[in-house]
Amino acid sequence: MTENVKLLINGEFTESSASQWQEVRNPATQEVLARVPMCGSDEVAQAVAAAKAAFPAWRATPIAERARVFLRLQALIREHMDTLAATLTREQGKTLADAKGDVFRGLEVVEHACSVGSLQMGEFAENVAGGVDTYAIRQPLGVCAGITPFNFPAMIPLWMFPMACVTGNTFVLKPSEQDPMTPMLLAQLAQQAGLPKGVLNVVHGGVDAVNALCDHPDIKAISFVGSVGVGTHVYRRGSEHGKRVQAMLGAKNHAVFLPDANKEQTLNALVGAAFGAAGQRCMAISVAVLVGKARDWIPEIVARAQTLKVSAGHEAGADLGPLINRQALARVEKLIGQGVEEGAKLELDGRNPAVVGYPDGNFVGPTIFSGVKAGMQVYEQEIFGPVLCIVEVDTLDEAIAFVNANPYGNGTALFTQSGAAARRFQHDIDVGQVGINVPIPVPVPFFSFTGSRGSKLGDLGPYGKEVIRFYTQTKTVTARWFDDEATAGPVNTTISLR
Ligand code: NAD
Repeated sequence: MTENVKLLINGEFTESSASQWQEVRNPATQEVLARVPMCGSDEVAQAVAAAKAAFPAWRATPIAERARVFLRLQALIREHMDTLAATLTREQGKTLADAKGDVFRGLEVVEHACSVGSLQMGEFAENVAGGVDTYAIRQPLGVCAGITPFNFPAMIPLWMFPMACVTGNTFVLKPSEQDPMTPMLLAQLAQQAGLPKGVLNVVHGGVDAVNALCDHPDIKAISFVGSVGVGTHVYRRGSEHGKRVQAMLGAKNHAVFLPDANKEQTLNALVGAAFGAAGQRCMAISVAVLVGKARDWIPEIVARAQTLKVSAGHEAGADLGPLINRQALARVEKLIGQGVEEGAKLELDGRNPAVVGYPDGNFVGPTIFSGVKAGMQVYEQEIFGPVLCIVEVDTLDEAIAFVNANPYGNGTALFTQSGAAARRFQHDIDVGQVGINVPIPVPVPFFSFTGSRGSKLGDLGPYGKEVIRFYTQTKTVTARWFDDEATAGPVNTTISLR
């Protein structure tokens, strides 16, 4: 019997009454793992109603008590790490080690949520006028919603609901319909950790569920992570309905290589960041900009990429697993074909790899193009597959100008031994997250995820310090107290406080 993925509404894991369902498949085998309901506005409304009803009591729950739920959740996630990673690999395809990384980067956010007591503090100014104090307090918004992509089914839900709930909001999560089983395990653990009923709710589906969240008058804020097209739609539609919206979008991340870089470290970092998770990371390096003599490294980059093992994510020694679905496979193969037609040099062709034991998997092996130019589709599009484009330039200045001319601003990296070059790069590069000899510079949660330009709509990041501001509103109180002996002066008709 194929499992039906449940909804979580008001603390109950319930069967959906949706008329449409979609299969969740193992992308390495096409085995059907589960069926996921495509919820409509009625089930979204039930989830929102449960979240709205839970809000007054949760908001009034002492801050340390809220934090303790997340202390228990972080312990439960550690305890269930193997089950979470195995489920994630089965439905998403990435290797088991990478699946654990996916869970771990989310776990770090849960740990950060535990210190909300010092994160959600307000401000106080004494004696702003005679005997008058002003203070600002950060209060939760109410019901918030999260819409998440397929590529990090543990980390990205964990970016959202722990920070939203620990600050006193209640939440409706709509995970990707392509891998909803991992988020449901996390939701179970959150219930087990003691999150009161209705504080976290989960619905499933696609367009209809997402539009219902954007339109619902009781939702105050939406956090979205996914592609540019869908994120722009959610940003516009949610904003039109008066909500705060933040949208983390697609990317094309460049890494720049100076010839003085530590070659061994650098080439390993490049190959791992370009092909890990089959390139299905928003921070994957998809463009390598080789400066000057670093262009001589192309044969070694190809040689290292050839050593990577393509297989099902649970297989020992697998370096990269399959793409998420058949459409993604067809799209990536088509873009590789287009790259050849447009004149890029195909240094390594990963199409149709022989993967022993998995003839039906959505596999593409590491693929490398050199001679890539702006304007080619392999450069202009976010391929979201294991395809690395190599661009060659003569100077660091040229490299910086090339990166800055790209519309995306999620992540970038520079590889060098020169502090002066690194200082110039970090100052002049117009990208929100910069690695210096670090290929995938995703910040730890005491900072914030700070992708910029075409990779983001809204001004605040999805976790870390910035998200405390996203999930709270500031109330400013100006107060004066009179003791019994105070006498009234003349009536004051001006606006000044004296
Ligand atoms: P996607 O945009 O297709 O899906 C994201 C969410 O939107 C899912 O929950 C999906 O159900 C929903 N959705 C899909 N189509 C929709 C539609 N037409 N109308 C309304 N909702 C719809 O993204 P994806 O393919 O799941 O994820 C990959 C994308 O996410 C890549 O572009 C990647 O760069 C991006 N991403 C960005 C970040 C970041 O932090 N910037 C992180 C991870 C992934």
